[in-house]
Amino acid sequence: MALYITDDCIACDACLDECPNGAISEGDPIYVIDPDKCTECKGDFDEPQCASVCPSDACQKLIP
Ligand code: SF4
Ligand code: SF4
Repeated sequence: MALYITDDCIACDACLDECPNGAISEGDPIYVIDPDKCTECKGDFDEPQCASVCPSDACQKLIP
């Protein structure tokens, strides 16, 4: 599973350097997560780092 970035993204750049897998990139107009690279930070951190730093709660888990 992967996280995705919602329309609430304000393109603040905070999450970009936090991802241990380089899964986040700058999109137009919002940032995007590559679902093939996102591991939900499992094995690296207890919490998804992008969601932890996001000021607008834009990094969300897909509801299966
Ligand atoms: S959950 Fe972790 S691995 Fe996935 S995009 Fe966010 S920081 Fe990167
Ligand atoms: S931290 Fe949140 S608001 Fe900032 S660029 Fe990343 S997803 Fe967008």
